[in-house]
Amino acid sequence: MNTFDSAIFLENIEWFDETGQELAHRFPEEGSGEIKWGAQLTVRESQAGVLFYKGKACDAFGAGRHTLKTGNLPLLTKILSVPWRGNSPLRAEVYMVNMKYFTNLKWGTMSPVAFRDSELGLIRLRAHGVFNIQIVQPVLFINSLVGTMGIFTTEAIATYLKEVIVSRFNDYLGEVLDTILNLPGRFDELSLQLQKRLIGDFAHFGLQLSHLYITSITPPDEVQKAIDDKSRLNIIHDIDKFVKMKAAMAMEKAAENQGEAGAGIGLGMGMMMPAMFAHSMGGAGGAGQQAVPGSETTICSDCQNSIPVDARFCPLCGHQQVILSQCANCGKNLALNAKFCSKCGHSTTEQPQLTICPHCKTKNLPGAMFCNQCGQRID
Ligand SMILES: [Zn+2]
Ligand SMILES: [Zn+2]
Ligand SMILES: [Zn+2]
Repeated sequence: MNTFDSAIFLENIEWFDETGQELAHRFPEEGSGEIKWGAQLTVRESQAGVLFYKGKACDAFGAGRHTLKTGNLPLLTKILSVPWRGNSPLRAEVYMVNMKYFTNLKWGTMSPVAFRDSELGLIRLRAHGVFNIQIVQPVLFINSLVGTMGIFTTEAIATYLKEVIVSRFNDYLGEVLDTILNLPGRFDELSLQLQKRLIGDFAHFGLQLSHLYITSITPPDEVQKAIDDKSRLNIIHDIDKFVKMKAAMAMEKAAENQGEAGAGIGLGMGMMMPAMFAHSMGGAGGAGQQAVPGSETTICSDCQNSIPVDARFCPLCGHQQVILSQCANCGKNLALNAKFCSKCGHSTTEQPQLTICPHCKTKNLPGAMFCNQCGQRID
């Protein structure tokens, strides 16, 4: 009689990503789902199945075939106190998350970002580059991007990540570079430092950023023209620097050649994939993930004891192996039903606030330090 009757009944859940490009796929694709008690969830290698209940991701499954019932959903029963027994279906959705490496993703400025150059004044720069990511905390990934931000499609997620990169790129240039005349020879350093900053941002989305490269930073046409037009070179004090810059701009590093060089950088930088997912990554190849064939144990990241690979909690110290949610303000791991952050007191229902530039009123991403529009410092 009511609209809820149109919920899609989920009995056998399985996903094959034909495109190889999807970060996550929702079941059902639209509307609400009802999961039959005892439904089968088949998770392939390099995937994780995430249960999405009342707008929150609350449990995850690694590779294998799983029967969905109360006993197999400890996080749902333990944290959310949802008892689920035969006959009555659970009104929930499932996200299948692709845990493979996504390589050579392109990022770039949609519109040029403002940069206050000490020699040239306010100029607008375009920048492009590549990055590699992998989802390492699937529940956190769904909760932070889908749950909190309301971003649903792979395309929208990729677009948002690019905005984050561009915003941090803008902050970084604003902080460390006085003039683009000093750019030559600094691409490698800039790329590395930018990646280091973004690793933390991406970790809050449950993502490991294993590689990021700036392939080009392009000045606006009028600056380029000035470079080309020798008659206007008198605006420049140091011709030698200018010639070098021109060479650097033209170089536009070949990303493909550099692409693999830093592929392993993110590993071992404190990002810990939960055991139940690390195990299923054995066949991913090339990234240094160690899955010992036939071994059914792994190491708890907290107490360092050997624990079963599919444990959601360490049986010895109780440490939760799956990160469910993090404070948008300070990044502390939070319980799913926490209303306030136990560390900084920030409300968990509050969306991350956009930073409004006090000079030109443009909206910048939360935490931005330099305005993308006017290049002024935001404090
Ligand atoms: Zn432990
Ligand atoms: Zn906090
Ligand atoms: Zn501004």
